[in-house]
Amino acid sequence: MNSSFIGKVDKARRYAEEKDRVSITTFRATFQGNHGTYDVSFDDGRWNCQCAFFWRHEACSHTMALQRILDEVLARETQVVEG
Ligand SMILES: [Zn+2]
Repeated sequence: MNSSFIGKVDKARRYAEEKDRVSITTFRATFQGNHGTYDVSFDDGRWNCQCAFFWRHEACSHTMALQRILDEVLARETQVVEG
């Protein structure tokens, strides 16, 4: 491993501690619930899940669990993009 790559690894290690640098804007996941596996997605600040509960309530245990897991790095719905 050359020295410039080692520098990047050190920088990545520091960045990983500074979670406010990151805003996830979109992702897809599969969520293994107790009764089945669901596709969950997050796009432009909006959640979606294919389970029946989400369809009726626009939130469900799957999206809320992922919100808890990813809270520090999800883009906020109200976040203003600057620059
Ligand atoms: Zn769901």
